[in-house]
Amino acid sequence: MDKNGFHIEKVFDNVYKISDSPAMNNFLILGSKKAMLIDTGCAVGNLREVVESLCDTEYYVMNTHFHSDHVGANFQFDEVYINEKEEEMMLELFTDPKEKETHLVMMEYYDTHFHTELDKQIFLESKPTFKVRHIHDGDEFDLGNITIKAIEISGHSPAGIAFLEVENKRLFNGDIVLRHASLIHKNGMDIRTFIAGMEKLWTYSDQFDITIAAHGHRKPSFEPLPKEFILKLIQCAKEIDIDKSVEKIECVDKGFEYKMENDDVSLAYKLNQLNM
Ligand SMILES: [Zn+2]
Ligand SMILES: [Zn+2]
Repeated sequence: MDKNGFHIEKVFDNVYKISDSPAMNNFLILGSKKAMLIDTGCAVGNLREVVESLCDTEYYVMNTHFHSDHVGANFQFDEVYINEKEEEMMLELFTDPKEKETHLVMMEYYDTHFHTELDKQIFLESKPTFKVRHIHDGDEFDLGNITIKAIEISGHSPAGIAFLEVENKRLFNGDIVLRHASLIHKNGMDIRTFIAGMEKLWTYSDQFDITIAAHGHRKPSFEPLPKEFILKLIQCAKEIDIDKSVEKIECVDKGFEYKMENDDVSLAYKLNQLNM
């Protein structure tokens, strides 16, 4: 289903995937009393209108982390939740014109486009007009028949949040658990911090079965990963070998990528993030 230029797919009974492009996904979880939008994407068009057409309740608007492909349409909403530790970094997109320029370069790189020239203008003129509310590690959000628990994980960004849909045992992780995980984007943490983050996430592993990322693991399809994938990422990070890594350039970010032998799992890093 396409609406307002967004591609919308019902991926579970109560969950819609709202895509800016095949590479960029936001999720809307519907509860009996309230809904939750996880990430606002690149601001390609009027996301708010789409969300309000899909749910007839009030809804939370959440950011998994501050990267611009997850917070771009924040300005369309009245109130947005993010970990307090990433609030300032998120707001820069709406206060620093250079950040908006970088966002445009990133969109081009990932073949993600504004629906109209007007949508682009609206984004370029956007200001931090929305109220920011804070998510803390362990916070629970009541959607009626569904509870969402916030888990703070460092690595891909300083203090990202994964959202655990408790009753359905699903984890919405943003960019925290990717088949091709990355620390090379803005304010990525070092390898040791990444491993500690994955180990923390694994302590919740009895509470979820699958983990769902914002990006399609270099494929346009919807591909949740089994939770055991977290263990593979830990192994991948622990065995990183510079000699077996290849140069990795992703948009404005540069580093190296180590891919596990016999497995489609990799981690991109910068040399100064190696600390073992
Ligand atoms: Zn990111
Ligand atoms: Zn991302």
